[in-house]
Amino acid sequence: MHQSQIADTIAGNLARVRERISAAALSSGRRAEDVTLVAVSKTHPPGAVEAALAAGQRHFGENRVQEAAGKFPSFRPGHPGLALHLIGGLQTNKARLAVRIADVIESLDRPSLADAIAAAIQKEGRTPRLLIEVNVAGEVQKSGIARSEADPFIALCRQRFGPALVGLMCIPPAGQDPTPHFIWLARCALNHGLGVLSMGMSADFEAAIAAGATHVRVGSAIFGSRPRTPLPER
Ligand SMILES: *Cc1c(COP(=O)(O)O)cnc(C)c1O
Repeated sequence: MHQSQIADTIAGNLARVRERISAAALSSGRRAEDVTLVAVSKTHPPGAVEAALAAGQRHFGENRVQEAAGKFPSFRPGHPGLALHLIGGLQTNKARLAVRIADVIESLDRPSLADAIAAAIQKEGRTPRLLIEVNVAGEVQKSGIARSEADPFIALCRQRFGPALVGLMCIPPAGQDPTPHFIWLARCALNHGLGVLSMGMSADFEAAIAAGATHVRVGSAIFGSRPRTPLPER
């Protein structure tokens, strides 16, 4: 496809996703502007990001730090308000680069990573907003802190990062009703006074909004299917 056709497709997809977000928010008595759309551009080329930017999109999600570092910094100068969210499992040896380039790190999930991020914040002199990822269904192959360890880990991160710790994130198992997981995460955030809830992807963002999501991470419904699912970083 020609770049202008790609741009039209992405702009149209974005408009449809935004409409669905508004409708889902309104039907649960919420305001559309209380839900931030994070466009997940992993595996898609810079041209796809450019098209989304041209259509007014400002929040983007990437899984891999290296890929994000190659794609995003050049877009910053022309696009104030651009916010890069790192949403993939993060290796401690990538923490420094993550802290350097991200506005939001959504996958803080273990004490060793909290240590690495804290050290990186010191060295880089910048502090991204942080979300703790919870492995809501206890899936062994997924990153995220276990439900049973979430309370103490949240307390530890709050002590360590103060107001930079803003919320929680989860990825419920595919092929199950995600709503009970979303509700669990929403309650956990409420218990801890955390205002940001990143949950919901292309297949389930409306259910996530009904359960209180403030951020939905939508990839394929905007950019089309990915060549292949990227492997987690660890
Ligand atoms: C890829 C990815 C998404 C987006 O998934 P889609 O199903 O393409 O919308 C959201 N969150 C995370 C953590 C992802 O890795």
